[in-house]
Amino acid sequence: MTSHLKNTAIHENEVSPKLSCQYEQTGLKLAQKFQSEYKQQIVWRKVFQFILLHIGGLYGFYLKLFVCSWKTFLWTYLCGIASGQGITAGAHRLWAHRTYKAKLPLRIILMICQTIDHRVHHKFTDTNADPHNSTRGLFYSHIGWLMVKRHQDVKTKGKSVDMSDLDADPVVQFQKKYYFILVIIFCLSIPTAVPWYFWDEAIWVSWFVATMLRICASLNVTFLVNSLAHKWGTKPYDRTIGPAENGFIAFLTYGEGWHNYHHVFPWDYKTGELGDYQLNPTTMLIDFFAKIGWAYDLKTVSPEMVEKRVQRTGDGSRKVRTTHFILDKNSNVHQDHIWGWGDVDMKYEDIQDVKYYNHLKEG
Ligand SMILES: [Zn+2]
Ligand SMILES: [Zn+2]
Repeated sequence: MTSHLKNTAIHENEVSPKLSCQYEQTGLKLAQKFQSEYKQQIVWRKVFQFILLHIGGLYGFYLKLFVCSWKTFLWTYLCGIASGQGITAGAHRLWAHRTYKAKLPLRIILMICQTIDHRVHHKFTDTNADPHNSTRGLFYSHIGWLMVKRHQDVKTKGKSVDMSDLDADPVVQFQKKYYFILVIIFCLSIPTAVPWYFWDEAIWVSWFVATMLRICASLNVTFLVNSLAHKWGTKPYDRTIGPAENGFIAFLTYGEGWHNYHHVFPWDYKTGELGDYQLNPTTMLIDFFAKIGWAYDLKTVSPEMVEKRVQRTGDGSRKVRTTHFILDKNSNVHQDHIWGWGDVDMKYEDIQDVKYYNHLKEG
């Protein structure tokens, strides 16, 4: 909590250019120190797997453009949308952040369509405890983190993040228990078999296009949120953190590119401030399920709360105001950040505000 108070004090005071420079120097020194502390150990088995996947994906891309039928082309696209929604509406907005609740049929659909280090990423953003710490460079935060042994902090600090709701969800537990068989059926077999069975596509074309290319593309697009959206874009809500607003990533990821907003207000089911569905089709899908009653208790942020935060820590891109400094990226200063709805560190006033604004009866 001390770090929380310290952090708030930093946010609320204007930072003079001299002080800003000191912060930058401290940040840089700490970043250098941290580089020497963490020796990355490459896991060659994973490097090899990713190389194979990308070769398969590239070959699939060639087949998709020049060889496969238009039906397989369309089928791959549809499978990509389904698996994308499993990640955005399911794993991300429902399970990782609890931004809304879903009834059993919707939970099963989303589970089939689609782990959950994501809370740890939000809680310890861009520090050693963040699995894909973006201060280690674009390649690392994109895919490199999956090819090396993890920093000890990811494990130790990760244990402090509450996962009890996921342990209690039978759908999540079912997926965990039968993950391997579910991947074989829904991720590999069905996408490959449908074009071959229904419109006589060659099985190898179907495998490389509808399966290898699709997996490769959806992994890379998802990873862009961890890499590019932590590097490029504006920071209207909190200028002190890495995550930024990036419309291009939002377009590619069905609305997950409003990343500065999302790290500041992770309980908002829209993951962005936009009032409409512009570059945010996942919100449209959740709204549809809310209409038929399968999704409920949708949480958003009141305009007053957004406005207050913009005034306090925004970079001025939403309103005119500019100050810039680098935060200490080494000491997990963001540990008072929250991962979503249900985080015990969420302020009482904020919880009350969200409950009142969204007419929630209970958390
Ligand atoms: Zn998130
Ligand atoms: Zn992030």
